[in-house]
Amino acid sequence: MNRLWVRLTLALVAITLLSVSGVAMLAQLTAANQLNVFVERQRHITQQGIIDELAAFYAETGSWDGVGNEVIAQFLPSTPRRQPPPGQRPNGPPPNRTSYAIANANGKVVYDDTRARIGINLPSTELSRALPITVNQQTVGYLITILPEQSLQLDAQLYFVDQLQRNLVVAAAVVSLVAVALGALISRALAKPLAQLAQTARTFSSRNLSARAQPDGTVEIAEVAHAFNDMADSLQQAEINRRNLTADIAHELRTPLSVIQGNLRAMLDGIYPLEPAEIATIYDETRLLSRLVDDLRELALAEAGQLALRPQVVDIAALAHSAIDQFTAVAENRQITLSANLPNLPTVLCDTDRTAQVLRNLIGNALRHTPSTGHIALVGAVDGAMVRLSVRDTGEGIAPDDLPHVFERFYRGDKSRTRSSGGTGLGLAIVKSLVEAMGGRIGVTSTLGQGSSFWFTLPVATHPKA
Ligand code: ADP
Repeated sequence: MNRLWVRLTLALVAITLLSVSGVAMLAQLTAANQLNVFVERQRHITQQGIIDELAAFYAETGSWDGVGNEVIAQFLPSTPRRQPPPGQRPNGPPPNRTSYAIANANGKVVYDDTRARIGINLPSTELSRALPITVNQQTVGYLITILPEQSLQLDAQLYFVDQLQRNLVVAAAVVSLVAVALGALISRALAKPLAQLAQTARTFSSRNLSARAQPDGTVEIAEVAHAFNDMADSLQQAEINRRNLTADIAHELRTPLSVIQGNLRAMLDGIYPLEPAEIATIYDETRLLSRLVDDLRELALAEAGQLALRPQVVDIAALAHSAIDQFTAVAENRQITLSANLPNLPTVLCDTDRTAQVLRNLIGNALRHTPSTGHIALVGAVDGAMVRLSVRDTGEGIAPDDLPHVFERFYRGDKSRTRSSGGTGLGLAIVKSLVEAMGGRIGVTSTLGQGSSFWFTLPVATHPKA
């Protein structure tokens, strides 16, 4: 009962039966109206006493011979209508007055004032509508009214309705059978791609992440298949990312751990002296480990949208200047010029601490990748409803192959060098998550050997300056 094909089939059969019974009811109503007219007419005839006259005639003569002249003639209009020659059926227009016929007890027409049906055995349907003539409680014949034009039509209609009802019953039965067959066919065709989709979903959930649905069937089912495939794609990508991340983390943790282990082992074995310089190396590695764990935690929170951000209206120019101030001494030491160009920037809506963290990270990276006598500039501009800040350096630049990957976790342009300088390869990934969490975007342009420009946007605050 809960199957699609059963429900569809039942629906089709129900619709069929409803339509057929609707038509039957209409026909029935029409027939009932016409029957009332018919009954009225019969009553009228009875009132005329024609039946009594006929019965008296039969009682007297014992047959219907001569009934036309003796009885019926009294009831016909004075001008007799034109009779067709004997043996010929009347043609031309139907009679324009009521005329009569008499059938004997067996239903055989023995008198017909139009002569059309003499000798014909009347069908039972017509006999049942004729008026019986009784003598001594015995039916000796029937009076059949041969009707004027509209009454003839009435007879035809009654007959038609009768036939129609009979045919409708047959039609209902046949059409119901066809509906069952069609319902089964259509619903099977509809259900097949759904069953395939269910099978694909089961295969997918049993860890076969490459299983995809065939977008067959109707547009709606094909859409479900497409939606399933999209979901499968993103789940598969998420699974690949998860595996990569686990592998990356394991890899990143292994390096400092093996340095620590190796150095400690060497000290225990007396290969390295137990001196502050050696211990400092190990200490540096533990600091790297600790930064790595902190960064990973921060990135995980940012990506899960769980970093507690406190958006406020911030004077971004002031914040950028104070970020630059923190690096002035380092820059001077390395003979790098640090400049700011932040003309009339509106306030932005952001988390002050996180924005400062983004700026520190980008300026720190620029310093790391810019040789002495280079320049680093922090440039701000309004870009529609956003403020756009760029950190431009005249450093080593980034190779075109590396450029699309710099915001990925653990991505490092030069692995050995940045690891030795303490880079975790997570800085830009964290910065990207933070900027996006604050409603901004981030990007980079770079030319190898000439320098890079890291930019990010933040939404302009609609409130006045805080
Ligand atoms: P880390 O600095 O810890 O290696 P980041 O995520 O901050 O990690 O940066 C990723 C990589 O992007 C760096 O290893 C470096 O190759 C490249 N990069 C970042 N900033 C710059 C820059 N200003 N100039 C050139 N390369 C850069």
